[in-house]
Amino acid sequence: MKKFNFCLLGVLFLLTFSVSFAGTKPLDGLRDYNGTYKGSPGTGTIEYRSGINTGTLYRDNEDFGSVSGCNGEGCGSHGGVDIPIISGTLVKASFAGEVVKAECETNLGWGGLVVIKSISPYNSSEIIYTSYAHLRNWSYYSVGNQVVEGSVIGESGGGAGDVCSGTSGGAHLHFQIDKNHAFYKPWYPQLINRTYNTPDSDFKVTEYTYNPIVFVVGGYNWTFADQGNSEYWTDLNTSYSGIESDIYWIDGNYDPYIWRNGDVNGYVNCEPELTTLTKPCSAQITADANIYKWVMVNIQNFCITNPMKVYYKTSLDDTWSEIKSNSFDYTSPANYWFYMGNDPNWVGIIKNIRIDPAVNCDPASFDPNYFYQITLQR
Ligand SMILES: [Zn+2]
Repeated sequence: MKKFNFCLLGVLFLLTFSVSFAGTKPLDGLRDYNGTYKGSPGTGTIEYRSGINTGTLYRDNEDFGSVSGCNGEGCGSHGGVDIPIISGTLVKASFAGEVVKAECETNLGWGGLVVIKSISPYNSSEIIYTSYAHLRNWSYYSVGNQVVEGSVIGESGGGAGDVCSGTSGGAHLHFQIDKNHAFYKPWYPQLINRTYNTPDSDFKVTEYTYNPIVFVVGGYNWTFADQGNSEYWTDLNTSYSGIESDIYWIDGNYDPYIWRNGDVNGYVNCEPELTTLTKPCSAQITADANIYKWVMVNIQNFCITNPMKVYYKTSLDDTWSEIKSNSFDYTSPANYWFYMGNDPNWVGIIKNIRIDPAVNCDPASFDPNYFYQITLQR
């Protein structure tokens, strides 16, 4: 895009909001999750990729999209996340609970494996299982031990030369949260006659597992704190737009909006640094509607034509419509909280969201809208 020689109008540096955690991240310094390989900029040093080497996102694949045609959420059936990390990194328990597995698992390829049974932080009558795989040290605790949240339960591995690395393409931690299903834990797609590379178009993976880092952090977090990185959001009906100074800014026309939906196929360009990815990336998200009921938009409008609106699509209704929306009148720069939980259509898995900062803006003048941060959270 041709760069407009103007400076952003009246930038107010609104405070970045941090999502209220439900548990402890398995790795210190791990970024919040935003459904991209770089993770939420400005929230940590550890990304879901290392250099050009991508990890594996939730419901992602391990074949760079050769089966599904895309990379990222929904493009596969991976039940957890793979975080590329140097071997020997301390791994922490995300929730308090009982160790039910601490072993070198050799049949299925998990390698050094610890599984902890816990009470869900979102529902005291629900049991969840948190798994940490490809560990080079899984013996900090034994089966039957109780662990407290945040305690070190192992050391990451999975690299060449690591003991008990299992089926691993390089040093990384596989982190997964299973629901209380009847299958082996950690769940894997072959249990339902699929491969990791089968696109999860019917959201089957979410019947057995939770989007793990989203579950621990308490939601998705888009910070726009990385110059030029739209975090897989795109804008429509705009004259100009950009991501700079911690702002996703748009100069809108009639009916301007940004969405996490991508193109007609639901795709966006992957991060340019990830040269190994030749297929596009998915703009899909995976958020349980019964847990994450708030959309927070930190915004400053210079084009003010109310109301602002949030629209969404779900695993049960894959269409955009007025009945699946929520609105709020803009007054001044602030965090705007859209409570979606009372909406009868906010059910199943939220797979795409769209935000309209204003009804219409003036195509003939520079009347921008500044998005500082967006969260979808508990
Ligand atoms: Zn994995």
